[in-house]
This record gives sequence, C-alpha cells and structure tokens, in this order.
Amino acid sequence: MSFSSLGLRAEILKSIAGQGYDTPTPIQSQAIPIALQGRDLMAAAQTGTGKTAGFTLPILHLLSADSALSVKRFKPRALILTPTRELAVQVHDSVRTYGAHLPLRATAIYGGVSMGPQTRALKSGTDIVVATPGRLLDHINERNADLSGIEILVLDEADRMLDMGFIRDIRRIISLLPKKKQSLLFSATFSDEIRGLAQGLLVDPISVEV
Ligand code: AMP
Repeated sequence: MSFSSLGLRAEILKSIAGQGYDTPTPIQSQAIPIALQGRDLMAAAQTGTGKTAGFTLPILHLLSADSALSVKRFKPRALILTPTRELAVQVHDSVRTYGAHLPLRATAIYGGVSMGPQTRALKSGTDIVVATPGRLLDHINERNADLSGIEILVLDEADRMLDMGFIRDIRRIISLLPKKKQSLLFSATFSDEIRGLAQGLLVDPISVEV
C-alpha cells in the first residue's frame, strides 16, 4: 500500500514525501479511504499510530476538491476538536505541514493565551479550525466564530476530552454545526459515554481499529 494508491492529490503527496513518509500506517490505510468517500468514521487509535495524518490528509484533500478555492471563503469548513492546547498546536502544525502546497488556511484556538490574535485570525477568514472546546465556545459567545459552514468535524482523542469534562461543551458545539456534515471520531478507548456521543453524532459510521 502506498500513499498515492489512496487517491490523495499530488500537492498532498508532495508534502508527505517531504516528511519522508514511505508507506501509510495501518490507521492511515484504513481511515483515509473511508474519509475520502465522505463516510462517517469511528476509529480506535492510540497516539503514535499516525492518526493525525489519518484525518488531516483527507480533510485537506476534500476541502481542496472544488474549483471555487480561489474565491476565499469566510466561514471555516472543517473543525478539529482536541482535548489540550498542546495537541491543538501539534495538529495545527500537521495541517500546515501537510497542506503547505494547498491554498487552505488553518487556525489554532486554545486557552491560556489572549483572545486578540485568535480573534483576528478567525475574523480574517480561515478554512480549518483546530480548537480546544472551552476557548472555542468563548469565541462563539463573542461572535468571533461562525460554525454554520462546517462540512467536516473531527473529535480527536474523544476519551480524553470526556475525561477532562468537556462533554457539555462538545455537545453545545455540535448543536451549532450543520446537521449535514461528515464526522470522524478518534478515541483510544470506547466507554458507554463515548458510544452515546458517537450514536448521536455519527451517521451510518464505519468502525476501524488498529
Ligand atoms: P500521531 O499518532 O498522529 O501523533 O503520529 C505519530 C508520529 O508518526 C508523528 O511524529 C508523525 O510525524 C509520524 N508519522 C505519521 N504518519 C507516518 C507515516 N506514514 N510514516 C512515518 N511516520 C509517520
């Protein structure tokens, strides 16, 4: 199995080669084709498995598919929720690295720093938002973020987000997203609470486990 056989566009393959990746990891070879088909996904994967590229690469591919890319859109089209600031920064870095040859804009939103620069980034327009739930809600409450154009949602490390008490924040954020969207849920473990969340969110999902 090679990255090119997964059907990712040339600009993305170029970034992957630049990172020195040779072959997709098991989670990547399973998750990427499902995500590229537009299907919802429930993935059991630990950190270190390459799961970040597993959702980042299809998002970059799908968002760069339409010819209207040259028209800068204002509202974000993909939202990736992560439990911590560190993970948000890491995932944002991955989006930028893998998307270096694509005209997509990404913004990281997390707490512990001032709102100003994040507000400006959101208001100047961005395609992909990588965020921790609490700070994203702060921006929503301040009307800095409009999630009505989200086409793809990722819950990364969903079990950790629930352990950290983010369930209400996550449900509130999901309630603000369009009903029709693609959702990808990644978690190391699957408690009843995660399954409940997945049941309310995912439509006819495909499950993968590595
Ligand atoms: P993750 O599980 O997403 O945190 O990724 C773990 C590490 O694996 C990161 O440092 C990635 O840069 C690296 N990585 C991801 N995909 C591949 C791949 N296909 N080949 C080699 N390294 C990879």
